[in-house]
Order: sequence, then structure tokens, then C-alpha cells
Amino acid sequence: MWAGAGKLPVIVVGGGMAGCAAAHYLAKMGARAIVFERDRIARDLSMHGGAELAYRWGPTSPWGRDEQGDDLHAALAARSLEGWRAIERETQIEILRENGLLVYGDAAEETKALLEKHHVPFESLDAEQMAKRWAVKPKTPAGLFEKTSGALWADRALAAFRKSAAAGGVVFREGESVVGYERLDRETIRVRTSKRETAFGSSLVLAAGAWTNDLLAHQHLRLDLEIGSMLWGHYAVDPAAAGRFPQWLRLSSGGSCWGFPAHEGRIRVAVDGGARAASMASFVKDADAKRAGLLDELLHDEWDGVKEKVALQCSPFAVTRDESFVLDVLPGEPPIAIFCGERGQGFRFAPVIGQSLAELATGRRPTVETGPLSVARPAAGLTRI
Ligand SMILES: Cc1cc2nc3c(=O)[nH]c(=O)nc-3n(C[C@H](O)[C@H](O)[C@H](O)COP(=O)(O)OP(=O)(O)OC[C@H]3O[C@@H](n4cnc5c(N)ncnc54)[C@H](O)[C@@H]3O)c2cc1C
Repeated sequence: MWAGAGKLPVIVVGGGMAGCAAAHYLAKMGARAIVFERDRIARDLSMHGGAELAYRWGPTSPWGRDEQGDDLHAALAARSLEGWRAIERETQIEILRENGLLVYGDAAEETKALLEKHHVPFESLDAEQMAKRWAVKPKTPAGLFEKTSGALWADRALAAFRKSAAAGGVVFREGESVVGYERLDRETIRVRTSKRETAFGSSLVLAAGAWTNDLLAHQHLRLDLEIGSMLWGHYAVDPAAAGRFPQWLRLSSGGSCWGFPAHEGRIRVAVDGGARAASMASFVKDADAKRAGLLDELLHDEWDGVKEKVALQCSPFAVTRDESFVLDVLPGEPPIAIFCGERGQGFRFAPVIGQSLAELATGRRPTVETGPLSVARPAAGLTRI
């Protein structure tokens, strides 16, 4: 551990998934911490499109892309599952729901080899079998059902992190932005907030998601990040069909789309793709007509019982050039730990992200292997500005 550890609190910037998870693990390590969140924690969950998020404990990303189907992500997912189970036990809050996942579409077949490689149990299904079990009318013949996938409740996860962190003495300051920070000496970081307050910390955790580059600018640094857009919304469903919506993922060469079982007469659906913005200043929150039209068409053509659209909007996520996270510490002292580049699929990894951030911010070596997620790798594009 470095000399400053323990004297002043760790300051966490951002009260989303990464900031709250870091707060939970800092409290477990007995570290003092303050979390600054410029909005409310778990405001309307609009950042991640609702309370319910997909998890997939197999080797693949929630959307089944091959680039995420590597051993590193498989290991991180497995560690995270252990972490989630421990958090559920500690806080007595149920976060995971193992309801299985239907994967269909013209690219679904490619997923099978990955699942086999990583011994993830699945059942192969043809179109007739799928239509018999669910309200789906697939246009392609093949599909599969992953038994061990499911959903996690993002709202409950944030509540659990916050409950245990607060019990350990972590202070949450909502509605207060960090507007500047600097390293004063090798043991102290000074932070200025939107409420014209100054806080002193022994280290910093930058967990600002799509706003990371705005925060890095205070260190005259920048990462090569783009801001991606996830379109998500709710559709009403016919009460007679409500029980026939599984958690599903439609993988096609043109992009992916996914949805969750009906809840209170609605299904929640999302679609990837869309134009990427250079920064949050040019990010558009309104749904674009192209993806909205495709989603409408797909839901009405391929699913029975989908009725009118209730709401639709876009949420941002940060992407690195190699589409992998940055989970590391910036050069220099005191430590500035950083997480970003989650590519709209990072929530399920919250336990390993939070634990690693807490370890890095307190000068410890991360328990999990984070080397490939280094901020210094060329694809992260760290530059001085
Ligand atoms: C529509 C959608 C669907 C998704 N579905 C899934 C899924 O099914 N499975 C999955 O695993 N993942 C999913 N994800 C990804 C997951 O939601 C993200 O990985 C996760 O929410 C990112 O958390 P974060 O803490 O890094 O960033 P954020 O949640 O964006 O948190 C960053 C926080 O920092 C705050 N902040 C920024 N600047 C400052 C400042 N200067 N001072 C104080 N606070 C500041 C912001 O207000 C924000 O609350 C989805 C994402 C989207 C958008």
C-alpha cells in the first residue's frame, strides 16, 4: 500500500454501477470513502434502460459477440457470478434471476461453438419448437436456449451496494458534481464540487462512464473513447400472451436486439447499433427513426401479442477502439483508479469492477487479472492534451 492510504477518504466520482460497486468493496476493506454523484443514484435507471438487465454467465457477451467470448471475459464473468452470490447473501437482496435465454436469428448458430467450448449448457431448437414454447415466430430456422442465463435487477444491485457501503460508513453525496481535481502532493488529492466545496482524498476512483473524458481533462488526459447509443423501450403486450415472452436475444448479421419477460403488462426491449458520438456533448437521447422503425417491425413481425409502444429512448455507453474495458490506475501518485469503456454490457461484471477499483484506489494489487484492461494499451489511446 502507498503512504497516503487510510489517512483521508477515497473519493469516488460517479454513483452508477462502477462507483456504487467500488463503494461496497471499499467499505468491506475498511476504507473511508465519499461518493459524489451529480444526479441521483439509480435515478430513473435511464442510463441502463431500466431495472432489468441481461446477464449471461457463459463466455459470450450479453449480445453474443465473439470478440467478448475470450478467456479473460469468461473468467471475469465467473468471478462476478461468485461476487453477486456473495452480495445477495450479505445484503439479503435478491439480484439474479436465472430464467434462461432464447437466442435466435441468422447469427445464432455461431454462438453454439462458443457455448460448447466453455461448457455452457444449451438446447438446440428449430422454429417450430420455439413457436410452440413462446410467442415468437422466428424467420430463421435455428435457435437455442441457454438454461443458465438470465437477468439481474440493476435497481436492486445498486440498492445492495449502497446499503452495505453506507453500513460501512461510506458517505453518498447526490446532486453534487465533481468540477475539478488535482494531485496536491503524493498523499493528497483535492476535489472541487458544484456546491463550491473542497474535499481532500487519499485517492480517487473515476467511475464516470460516458463522461470519463470530461473528468480526465482535469489531468490533461484523454482516452480514445466513442459514445455508443443503445435504443431501448417498453411495449404493451396482450395479457393473453404475457406469459409467453422469455428473455430473448435476436442475433443477426445486421445487429442484435433483445427483450425480457413481460412485467406489469409490458416487455422491455433494446437494440444496439446506431451512430456513435465523439463525446456526450453531441449525444442524442431521442430515438432515431431508423432503429425505432426496425424495432417496431421486428416486434410485430416476429412476436405474437405485441401491442403499442409505451416509451423509447437512447442511452449512452463508452467504447474503446478494441471494445474492451479500461480498468486500471493512471500513472502517478496518489492513485487515480479508472473504469470505463464498458460498451453497454458491463453491469454483469460489477463485482469484479468494484473490487478491482477499490483495490487499485487503496494501492493494492487487483485480485483478478486486469493486465489486458490496462489504460496504457494502445487501443485505449491515452494521450496528453
Ligand atoms: C440501454 C442499456 C442496456 C444495457 N443492458 C445491459 C445488460 O443487459 N447487461 C449488462 O451487463 N450491461 C448492460 N448495460 C451496460 C450497463 O448498464 C453499464 O455497463 C453500466 O451501467 C455502466 O456503469 P458505470 O458506472 O460505468 O457508468 P454510469 O452508470 O453511466 O455511471 C456514471 C455516473 O457518473 C456520474 N457522473 C459523471 N460525471 C460526473 C461528475 N463530474 N461528478 C459526479 N458524477 C458524475 C453520472 O451522472 C453517472 O451516474 C446496458 C447499458 C445500456 C445503456
